[in-house]
Parts: sequence; C-alpha cells; structure tokens
Amino acid sequence: MYKIILSVFLLVIFVSASEAKDFRITANGKPLVEVVIDDTNVEAMKTTVTELKRWIKEISGASLKVSKVGGETNSPIIRLSFLPDTLDLFPKDREKLKNNDGYAVRLKDNVLYIIGTSPKGVMNGVFRSLTANTGIIWARPAKGGTFFKKNPDIVFTKTDYIEIPAFSWRGWMITGPIDNTIVEGCEWIVRNGGNWLNQSGGGGNRVTEKYGMISQAGGGHNLNTTYISEKKYYDSNPDFFPLIKGKRMRPSEKILRSQICFANKKMQAAFIVELDRLIERNPGIRTFCINIEDNFDCCECPKCTAPIKLADGTTLKVGDKRFYSTLYYLFLNKIARHVKSKVKGGQINSLAYFFTEMPPAIRIEDNIIIVFAPIQRNMKFPLNHPENKVNNKYLEGWLKQTRNVVLRDYYGLQVEFPRPVDVIAVADFRYMYKFGANQHYSEISFDGPPTSDRGLAGRNGTLIWDYSAPFFYVINEAMWHPELDAHEVRNNFIRKVYGDAAPEMIEFYRLIEQEWNNVKGVSLYNDDPHCLWIRYVVNRNISDKLLQLLDKALAKKLDPRIEKTLKDIQDNIKSETAVCAISYKAIKVKGKVVFDEDFQSGEWLNAMPTDDFYLIRTKNPADLNTTVKIICDDKNLYLGVKCSDVPGKTFVSAPAGTSRDKWISNTDKFELFVSGKDSKIYQFIIDPDGNIYDSCNGDAKWNGKFKMQQKKQNGKWSLMLTIPFSELGYSTMPQDASNLMMLRYCYSEKGRGKIFAWKRGFPNVPETYGKLFIK
Ligand SMILES: [Zn+2]
Repeated sequence: MYKIILSVFLLVIFVSASEAKDFRITANGKPLVEVVIDDTNVEAMKTTVTELKRWIKEISGASLKVSKVGGETNSPIIRLSFLPDTLDLFPKDREKLKNNDGYAVRLKDNVLYIIGTSPKGVMNGVFRSLTANTGIIWARPAKGGTFFKKNPDIVFTKTDYIEIPAFSWRGWMITGPIDNTIVEGCEWIVRNGGNWLNQSGGGGNRVTEKYGMISQAGGGHNLNTTYISEKKYYDSNPDFFPLIKGKRMRPSEKILRSQICFANKKMQAAFIVELDRLIERNPGIRTFCINIEDNFDCCECPKCTAPIKLADGTTLKVGDKRFYSTLYYLFLNKIARHVKSKVKGGQINSLAYFFTEMPPAIRIEDNIIIVFAPIQRNMKFPLNHPENKVNNKYLEGWLKQTRNVVLRDYYGLQVEFPRPVDVIAVADFRYMYKFGANQHYSEISFDGPPTSDRGLAGRNGTLIWDYSAPFFYVINEAMWHPELDAHEVRNNFIRKVYGDAAPEMIEFYRLIEQEWNNVKGVSLYNDDPHCLWIRYVVNRNISDKLLQLLDKALAKKLDPRIEKTLKDIQDNIKSETAVCAISYKAIKVKGKVVFDEDFQSGEWLNAMPTDDFYLIRTKNPADLNTTVKIICDDKNLYLGVKCSDVPGKTFVSAPAGTSRDKWISNTDKFELFVSGKDSKIYQFIIDPDGNIYDSCNGDAKWNGKFKMQQKKQNGKWSLMLTIPFSELGYSTMPQDASNLMMLRYCYSEKGRGKIFAWKRGFPNVPETYGKLFIK
C-alpha cells in the first residue's frame, strides 16, 4: 500500500549532497567565524541570531560575534540573509525557495550562507542545519529537554544543500494550564521547524513576530467573543442568538457558550461591522478566523429552519445531515465575499467541526480555508481507513472542493500511555498530500506536572512527554518530509536521546506497538490511560517484559535526565498494572439479610468492606468515603453501600417517582455493573430517592426484579440491593467469578460534580472491571 502511495508522491524536497566541504565554526571552545546578518530590524532575524549564538555557545563554549552587513571582518563568515541581493548569488535556490519557508545552506568563498526567502526560512535553516551538523535535538519543551554532545570543535560538514518543507502549515497548539509550559512548548515548536503556534490566531503579536510565525486574527471558537457578544447584543437583539426549545439562548448560560442565528440578516450585518473592526485592528493581516462555538446548539427559528433552495433546483430540509452545515456555509460565503472586497488576498479560516465538519450541499468561496477537525476519529487508524469512514467521507468531500484544507487533528493530545500516533499521522499526511493539501496543526499536551484534578490540566504532562516525545519528533519531521519511515526516524530519535538505553527502549516501544496493532478497537483523543494499560499491556501479558527492559536499561550508566524519565515510566507502569489484580470475595451467609444503614450487624458483620474508590480517570483517592459490602446466599446477591459526605450536605436526586430508566444528569447516584450468565453485563443505578436506571448489555428495556432499600441522613446515604441470581440468568448460585464495577456519583457540592470509580475501573470498559468471587 505504501509503495503505491510513494510512487504517486510528488517530492518537493531537493536535498542534494554534492561534494560538501567542511566549515569550521569553533576550535578549543573559541570562535573561528563571525555571523553577519541583514541590515534590518526584523524581530525574527534577531531571534535567529540569538538562538544560533546560544546553541553554539552551549555546545562548544564559544561566543560568536555578530555584525550587520557592511562591517569589516577578516574571519570566515556565517551569513544569514533573506534579502534579494544575497539570494541573487544562488538563483536556483531563489527559485525553489519562492513562496515557502524552506532554506538553503551553501558554502562559497569561505562564507557559509544560510538563506531563505523569508526571515522564517532563515530561522528554519539555523535550527535544522544545527541539528544536521551537530546532532542537537530539542526533544521536549520542559527545562533540560534539549540533548547534544558538548564539542569545543564544531565543524559543519553538511554545507551544501537545500531543504523545503512539504507542508506549508506546520504547527501545534499547546494545551494545558496557562503558565510557563505554554511558553516552553512554543519554543519547542519553533526549534523543531514549526510555523504555527498558540498565538498564531491572535492577530499581529509579539510572539508571532519574534518567531516569524503564521499570523491570523480572530482566535479559536469565537462567534460569541470576537463577533456577536452577549454583552453588546443580547439585550437589544436577542434574535441574534439561537432559538433553542422556544427561547433565545444566552451564551453565558453554558460554559461552551452558544452558536448564533446564522440566517438572521440583521445579525449578518452586525457580524460584518465587527469583522471590519477586527480588520482595522490588524493591519497587514490577511486571514481572519471565524469558528463555530464548541457545541451543537443549532438555531431552531423559522428562518434558520426554512428549506434551503439549492442551485440544482432541489431543496434541502431540516433533518438532512447537511442542513446546518449548508446553513452555516451560506452565511460564511457572504462574509467571505465581503473579506475579498475589503482586503487584498483576504481569507477566512473556519473550523469544520461538529455540525460543520461535513461538507455543505453548496460550493464554498475560494477564499475560505477549511480547518478540518475530526474530533471523533479513531486514533488507531489513518483517516482513509474504513474504521474512519465517516470522517474520511467528509474529508474527501472537502478535498474534492478545495485544496485549502488544514488538517487540525489531536495527535498531540496524548494520555499517559505511549499510543504510537506517529505512524497514523504520517499516513494521514501522505493521504492529504496526495490531494495537494499540505497544512496541519494539532493540539498537544503541555510538558509539566498536573496543576488541577480535572480536565486537560489534570493530565500528567511530564509523563505524557516521557512516553510520547519520540512520536512528536516524528510528526514534526513528517511535516517536512511525509515520505519518511516513521519507525526509522523514531528509533533514530531514541538512539540520540536515550544513549545506552536505546536498544531496550526501541524494544519497549516495539512491544507496545505490536499489541496496539494486535488488539482491535477504538482509541479516542480522550482515552482513559488506565484502560489502555489494561487492554494493551496487562491483558496481553507484556507488563513483566516491559519492566524487565526498563530494569536492564536502568542498570546502565545513563544521562540523569533519561534515568529520571525511565524511573518515572517504571513507577507508572507498576502502579497502572498492579491495581488490575482486583477482586472482591463475597461470603455466603445462612441467615436472613436485614438492611442496616451502617452494615455493621447480623450477616453483614463478617463481610469484607471495600472502600477503594478513586476520582474517575485519575490516581487520586476519593475525598469522600464510599464503603461497599457484598454477601450472598443460595438465591440472592446482596450489596450494602454507604456513601458518606460532610455533615450538612444535601444529596441531589431526581424527584422521587421519576420514571424508570430516565437518566437524570448531575445527581447523586450509585452504579453497579455485574456480569451474569453468558457474560451479559447488568447495570443498576440507584439514587438516594430510589429512582432506578437498569439495563442488560446496554439495553435499558431490561427491567430487573430486584429489591432495594435506602436511607438518607445528615451527611450520608445508604443503599441495600437484593439481586436474585435468577435475574442474572442463573438457575443456581454461580460457581465462576463475575465481573464487578462500581461507581459513585457525587453532586452534593453545587456546580461541582465528582465521580468516584472502584479500584480505578471505567464504566463500559469491561477489561477494567474487577472480579467478584462467591464462596
Ligand atoms: Zn435562527
């Protein structure tokens, strides 16, 4: 398959290595050359020189002298330039570097030229020629993330080549806490040849200027912020906002705000006024971002739901999957035509995401850039694989209309498990490139410890990078050269960074990837890492092998930074795989089982209590106690559950008598999953007022004949379930172990719900369930 792809590949890379001559930069830690730069005040050139000086100094100890062109010097020169006069010395390079941010390195008359047609091209040339000639790698953003060998005698041997990136848009958006990790992440992007980062959507700003990055105005999800804000428009024009269930929605009603009433002509006029202001505020910028908000709240007003007449005479009605996408792009086309008339070369940048991910039933204006964000894709397979057929149908639909498609993916939103996403990204890049689409950026985790107990900031960014730095490196390289071999580049990275531990770590990644490929299934950007460890490591019996490899690697003399990384990985694997041997033994009783709110009397006395609950998706023990006891007799399984809280807290439940199987969000509940005969999974959810949701294999039509008793008191609620074995499909008490999983939903604290999971299991992922033994 790859061979076919490669044969139709149009290589845009021209790396030639004709008779390269050596160029000596330092000797004995002293400089042998001077740096000469263009006589300009371009910020990105200042950064380039600072970075070149910094890394030469770190590697060799030598401080390079810098002067502007025209100065006198007798030393050999490194000439950094993007000006036509210099480029004219290399007319072939000048032609090839037109309209891209590639660069050329040429040695001529004792001058080493690093040139591009833009300051960014020169900057790329400095970083990439440093790597090519000294082996330096900016492996990860956090302090200590750069790897190189000290060398007082730097000699550049690759002094005659040109390199042009296949992708014109190469970037990442660092996600996580708003702190120094964002700054460090952006530096990492720049040093690895990227040209798009967090601040790229924020208009002309210091960061984009400093690094010569792509610069657009308007930002991310922005309908209610940059354009139609609630503060300015809601009171006078509530009809600018979507009509949902008969009411014009206020964006502030929800964390993820609202959409707008796209068909409203007055709103469109106001939108253009706001856009014009944005254009005025950002002279020199030609691309303006218009992005739907992060929700599905499509307006239900008569204008927005009126049938849409298409060019071919047919009509599109609400209910057609393309309806709201078409409504949106009709609106966007109007705005795009306005931008075209207002700004020379003006473009609109717009997310194809949620209801706008699918192409509309109309053609879009040629100045709209589609930023394709397939958030629900399966990360285990490339976009053109049948497993991703829905996303791919949309993507192909777009690529048939326009080459102006940016793949905005989630490769970098890794969790604390080494998902080999580099291979997938490379396949996706090749696929896009075949259509002539060569733009990409992804969200990526910060490199640092968690700063919260929830959300993206709650992930352990340090550990994520411990595992995924090799994949991220491959993805950076693939944006320059999508034809590369992902495994080869990944292994080269490991050799350079891991030193003597490389053989073991190459095997470590190979083993995990093998099982990753052996097990079918779905992987989403927000996978639970614990589930991944169980599914791909514990259940595949490779945890011991992985730990042995780490032991072997750690027995060697290693760079302390690598030693720390490997130890972190080792600890993590131990803790992720240890909790899997979870089980509960339910004792068999002879007498009558009676409800006791503390389960401290009668037949409950000898039962083993388990209170091992964790905040879901984390390793943090629950801050409120939940104690469960399970016992049985010949006929029934009995569960005693005590949910404690702070005295004075009120439990939240649906009104008593709410109809069975009606799911009410944000209320206190206890949930039990237990397997019955033929491995069927039975689900029981009970709230403090006795409301029930139950199902068998996900089918809520199943209504079990079980008994429950519960009691609410100040600061605690107790529940007893009596489940006949016959309801689980058995004729007598089962001999085999069942699967067991329990969750407590806690909503007594207003606006801040918590879910606690027994032994770190995960609902709907049976691999993470524990075992229930009956004796
Ligand atoms: Zn509307």
